[in-house]
Amino acid sequence: MSDCLFCRMVKKEIKCDVVYEDDRVLAFRDINPQAPVHILIIPRKHIETSLDIKEEDASLIGHIYLVASRLARKEKIDKSGFRVVTNCNRDAGQAVFHLHLHLLGGRSFSWPPG
Ligand code: AMP
Ligand code: ZN
Repeated sequence: MSDCLFCRMVKKEIKCDVVYEDDRVLAFRDINPQAPVHILIIPRKHIETSLDIKEEDASLIGHIYLVASRLARKEKIDKSGFRVVTNCNRDAGQAVFHLHLHLLGGRSFSWPPG
């Protein structure tokens, strides 16, 4: 989608701090980090929210989680622990309507989340 911020990052129209990419996903550092490690992992394909994931996306979603685990190891937050979050719609505070996983780590998090 031409007016989607994350699609524009996929197309390299907007610069971002890429930490990993392959034919299906792009991962980059969040511009407003909420933890020492805060990486966003997105599918290259435009999917608006987690409600829009289709059966045909099952392998893609699995792949995104595998990338999150690999990046957690690479960033050395695997042993201490990390959080993987997807916000969906208003009450969760979703701001960018292109599916993304937040990979957060490097500090401890409270539960339940605020
Ligand atoms: P969400 O609230 O789950 O939709 O998260 C959107 C995230 O995108 C926020 O954590 C923002 O800080 C992040 N973000 C917005 N614009 C950019 C950008 N240009 N580069 C990197 N991260 C961004
Ligand atoms: Zn998009």
